[in-house]
Amino acid sequence: MKKKPILAIIIPCYNEEETLFFTSEKLLEILQKLIIQQQISSQSFLFFIDDGSKDKTWEIISSQSQKNPLVKGLKLSANAGHQNALLAGMFSTYAEVDCIISIDADLQDDIDIIPEMINEFQKGNEIVYGVRSDRKSDSLFKRKTAEWFYSFVQKLGLEIKPNHADFRLMSTKAVKALNEFEESNIFLRGICPKLGFQTSDVFYLRQKRVYGETKYPLAKMLSFAWNGISSFSIAPLRLSGLMGGLSLMVTLVLSISTFWEYLAGRTVPGWASIMIAILFLGSVQLLSIAILGEYIGKIFTEVKKRPRYIIEKKI
Ligand code: UDP
Ligand code: MG
Repeated sequence: MKKKPILAIIIPCYNEEETLFFTSEKLLEILQKLIIQQQISSQSFLFFIDDGSKDKTWEIISSQSQKNPLVKGLKLSANAGHQNALLAGMFSTYAEVDCIISIDADLQDDIDIIPEMINEFQKGNEIVYGVRSDRKSDSLFKRKTAEWFYSFVQKLGLEIKPNHADFRLMSTKAVKALNEFEESNIFLRGICPKLGFQTSDVFYLRQKRVYGETKYPLAKMLSFAWNGISSFSIAPLRLSGLMGGLSLMVTLVLSISTFWEYLAGRTVPGWASIMIAILFLGSVQLLSIAILGEYIGKIFTEVKKRPRYIIEKKI
């Protein structure tokens, strides 16, 4: 039989006072059950990250941790955002555990698949993704925008797992590899597939939020999506090249027709030369921006200082 892994469940919390009692109770229940069933080590724990909350979140975390040794917490000095809170949690625990599971504080994700995730980990998977089998609990708007987002990023050539939020298990090895990515704007859903390793999916149904409200209002959601695209792809930079090329073609056709009109004497003096000059300069400018874009794209990929490779095993 395999060694019982030490598990840390990492829960980022931003102004979650309304849901925290419920959340820690539910998670403790499952953690204790797994410990009793000998599926995980008794050194496993819950790890709450207070992401600079302005309400009683930290007070609740610290009182829960005084009451129960299985509860630990970390307080960030200011709001660093969901992704950074997750990273803070992972990087400050991975040395003492064998695997971590990240989950949102509102428990919209189904904690009953946690045992299955551990099983998958025991089978040798370094990353186990929690994947939503449908999005029925979302509003039509969120469902549609998510669908467009996934199909758009896939067209840009970005590997990202559809319908997976940040509910996932990662082994210490995977977290260590993640730690090699030095970029400051990290988009976990895009990076995790880049880590390689053997991975697997566990499917579940996502519930509606019971307590409190979403910490991802539309503006934050859009900026998250844009961050995802812009930190993985320089395709938007190349757009000007495409537009420049297209407008150059249009310029050629229009210049010929403008010249034709001029020869036929159907133009006011000066019109033909101005038309041709504007069209031509417009395309030249777009193309020059595209050249700049190519160089900026190079700088962009360089300054991220991503690791060139990740070692999976040594023998
Ligand atoms: N969160 C965070 N920092 C932030 C925003 C959100 O740590 O700046 C946490 C939040 O407390 C929750 C998780 O990220 O645990 C996901 O947020 P939420 O459930 O509000 O997002 P939604 O499910 O609506 O997309
Ligand atoms: Mg939520």
